Amino acid sequence: MSHETLTQDHQRQPVTILGLGPMGQALAGALLQAGHSTTVWNRTPEKAEALVARGARRAQTPAEAVTASPLTIACVIDYDAVHTIVRPAAEELRGHTLVNLTADTPARARDTAAWAIGHGIDYLDGAIMTPTTTIGTDDALVLYSGPEAVFERHRSTLQNLGGRARFLGADPGRAAAHDVALLDLFWTSMSGLVHAFALARSEGIAAAELRPYVQGVVGLLPDIATEFADRIDKSRHVGDQSTILSAVAGIEHIIHAAEQRGLDTGVLYSARAIAQRAIDARHGEDGFSRLTETLSAPATAAS
Ligand code: NDP
Repeated sequence: MSHETLTQDHQRQPVTILGLGPMGQALAGALLQAGHSTTVWNRTPEKAEALVARGARRAQTPAEAVTASPLTIACVIDYDAVHTIVRPAAEELRGHTLVNLTADTPARARDTAAWAIGHGIDYLDGAIMTPTTTIGTDDALVLYSGPEAVFERHRSTLQNLGGRARFLGADPGRAAAHDVALLDLFWTSMSGLVHAFALARSEGIAAAELRPYVQGVVGLLPDIATEFADRIDKSRHVGDQSTILSAVAGIEHIIHAAEQRGLDTGVLYSARAIAQRAIDARHGEDGFSRLTETLSAPATAAS
């Protein structure tokens, strides 16, 4: 058998998908599209119908589903649901691979990896970083962590979920750790975005009027992220362009303006409190990247 035939066969290894929410359906659809024999199971079986019409096989139970394939991918709402589904199928999963693409905390990823190892199951934990519409396209990004040999064994199949399958290391919590850090950025930014539009609206400025300037501010972030990453890894937080003292003065203007219009100021108070901790620890003349270290220190200690 030629190398090419071997590769093609491997790419088309049977795969099982547990969970058919929007993301599970997208994953199963991409595998079918790539020519994999795909077995699916979902708590609510009707959600499999469109996939069955495209050639997927619907299993009656998780145990039947995982028996059908050497590789099972779980993608449900949280790890409690994962455990509810896979624990009764542990014996059938023994000697197989379970890739868990459900989002949760790094600690839960590590606990689930330990459970899987204890049952003779090869386990990779993963995090999907892009929306359902990207799955199966070059725009998808899925992060993986766990045993590298297991990732390599299934790499070509996992690549069929989307263009970028990134392996991050042996710690099974590492993909989830990237996920929560990036979602931290996303949701705090989203919170700032809606607050900015609400503050503008309270001053009679339509969202469409503010939008070009919002995009200008958002456009500053990539360069700031690059600069901060360098400063944080070197622990060099020079306040050469702007200081924490100056940032707090700016935050206070926003708090006053928001209070005058009766808007919620909880997030802004939190932002100011963290900066104030750094000032209290005599870092007021440093740059804003210093707050990474302030946040890493216990709240009661001078940082
Ligand atoms: P949900 O997060 O809403 O998960 C829905 C799935 O979870 C369904 O299969 C549902 O089954 C199942 N489920 C929920 N509770 C249980 C339970 N107690 N027992 C068994 N199954 C249960 O939808 P998504 O598919 O969108 O997300 C799945 C994962 O993918 C999540 O971790 C999410 O964070 C992640 N993700 C999603 C993205 C997206 O764009 N949707 C983007 C990136 C990551 P049922 O149909 O029976 O209710």
